[in-house]
Amino acid sequence: MRKRSFFGLTKPCFNYELATDVSDMSAQPVTIPTPETVTLYIKKELKQTSSSLKVGTPVKTGQRLVLSEDDDVSTISSVTGTICAIAPFLADYGQKWTAITIKTDPQDDIDEAFAEAAKAPSLETLSNFLSACPGEPDIGPLVDERNPVHTIIIYGGNSDLLIDTSLYILKTKVDTINAGIEVLRKATGIEEIVIAVPEESVQNYSGHLDAKIQPFSSQYPYAQPLMILQNLTGRLPDERGTGSMGIHFIRAEAVASIGQAFSEGILPVQKTITVIGKDGAKHLARARMGTSAGLLLSTFGIEVNDQDKIIFGGPMTGNAIYSETLPIGPDTDAIMVQDKSVIPYYSDYPCINCGDCVSICPANVPVNLLVRFLEAGQYTEGADLYDLYSCIECGLCSYVCVSRIPIFQHIKLAKYELGRMLSAEEMNEQ
Ligand code: SF4
Ligand code: SF4
Repeated sequence: MRKRSFFGLTKPCFNYELATDVSDMSAQPVTIPTPETVTLYIKKELKQTSSSLKVGTPVKTGQRLVLSEDDDVSTISSVTGTICAIAPFLADYGQKWTAITIKTDPQDDIDEAFAEAAKAPSLETLSNFLSACPGEPDIGPLVDERNPVHTIIIYGGNSDLLIDTSLYILKTKVDTINAGIEVLRKATGIEEIVIAVPEESVQNYSGHLDAKIQPFSSQYPYAQPLMILQNLTGRLPDERGTGSMGIHFIRAEAVASIGQAFSEGILPVQKTITVIGKDGAKHLARARMGTSAGLLLSTFGIEVNDQDKIIFGGPMTGNAIYSETLPIGPDTDAIMVQDKSVIPYYSDYPCINCGDCVSICPANVPVNLLVRFLEAGQYTEGADLYDLYSCIECGLCSYVCVSRIPIFQHIKLAKYELGRMLSAEEMNEQ
């Protein structure tokens, strides 16, 4: 995967998985049996629950679950069963969510509400029913009247190394993606739809996908969504996000979910996911959203021992999780396990100004200077003086840092906090 030059004269080079590398595409992903319980998140703090969301309440597959009847934040039940726990959940960056655990029944009973709503594709239906489907279609920016979207970019790449999920979807679900593109066009009225695909397979998709093809290089990090945006428009978003540029990103799997849902009148509830073992061996699987990481790993005989690290996502940009019991969500494209012997440790060593992060950064961010401000929590200064928003979130700086400073995590946190501050200001002005 990694090619190092002789004498260290050039940058290290990584490549994404190629479509031709993705393990036998004709083989179906391994279907993980429906677990005894699933846990789903509603991305909202638990303060109250609606009458339809109580412990002991039966739920159907595809049923929309909300904390209060007039909520626009919801999740979709991936199983039929009975709610057995509702609890607060502390997500990344201290976000307060609600975890709903459902004890599953052996048979699926499909909720009818979506089939009725699906007769006429609309943004409201997409927002109410699809936001928690596989690929996590983010509908919010499409209904934001302050920043009208003029271009949708469908992301057909994997956002990290070693992951096969998106390429598998792109290669095997062309018709379903086209059905999703048609629904998006009808519901949004947006004609400009671009699909980013690996450059080595452009000829496979030209004329088959109903969208403008934008190739990306297989060399890391050229398939990162922000890098694609930079190449397409010559610009990157500020703290207001890509919506402020009139551009909306959506994963290929999300578009396939939309296509499948409206073609069949049934919401898809199974996530495609790449499972990566300690030896780098990869497996494609399909599991109900809310299935625990532990069940996926044990299905492929991957043992997790004391001090091994489980990561949701890939090796450069993934997030470590603290327990095998945590469930996969609609945006979990991969789970990997690192053996404790190969885990790079983080340290509290100071920056020694070696410059490695600066020379590897594809966005020319003065990372060595930026990180000093971010470590001190001076996010606004980091953004104003040292190009925080030029960062395309590839993680290469963290990878090369000799002091093992978690630079990428500092950058993500800074962007999150600045975005949160802006939202709070906008709320106050209303
Ligand atoms: S600052 Fe780090 S994460 Fe951001 S683009 Fe540069 S190397 Fe990548
Ligand atoms: S790689 Fe790490 S130690 Fe070297 S300049 Fe960058 S932050 Fe400092």
